[in-house]
Amino acid sequence: MDDCLFCKIVAKEIPSKMIYEDDEIFAFYDIAPKAPVHFLVIPKKHFTHLMEIEEGDSALMGKLLFHGQRLAKELGLEESGARFVLNCKEEAGQTVWHIHLHILGGRPLSWPPG
Ligand code: 5GP
Ligand code: ZN
Repeated sequence: MDDCLFCKIVAKEIPSKMIYEDDEIFAFYDIAPKAPVHFLVIPKKHFTHLMEIEEGDSALMGKLLFHGQRLAKELGLEESGARFVLNCKEEAGQTVWHIHLHILGGRPLSWPPG
């Protein structure tokens, strides 16, 4: 999508600290980390938010989770655990309009969210 920040990051038109990419997904560190480890995993295909997902996208969304936990382990979070968050639309706090899975860890995280 032309005017999407994360599509531009996927296309490397905007730089990011990439952690992993393959033909379908892209993982990179959050520019404003909210925890000692905070990275995002996104599909390369543009989806504005989770409400756009259809049944045929299930494997792709599963892949986000799979690689999210794999990278969390590589980054030292296997023992302590991590928070996997997907903010969907305004009330949930979504600010970038391309689906992204947050992975946060490295400190205790409170629950429930404010
Ligand atoms: P949301 O609030 O939509 O769930 O999360 C958007 C996330 O994207 C925020 O944590 C924010 O810090 C991050 N972010 C916004 N712009 C950029 C950017 O240009 N590069 C990177 N790496 N992260 C960004
Ligand atoms: Zn996009």
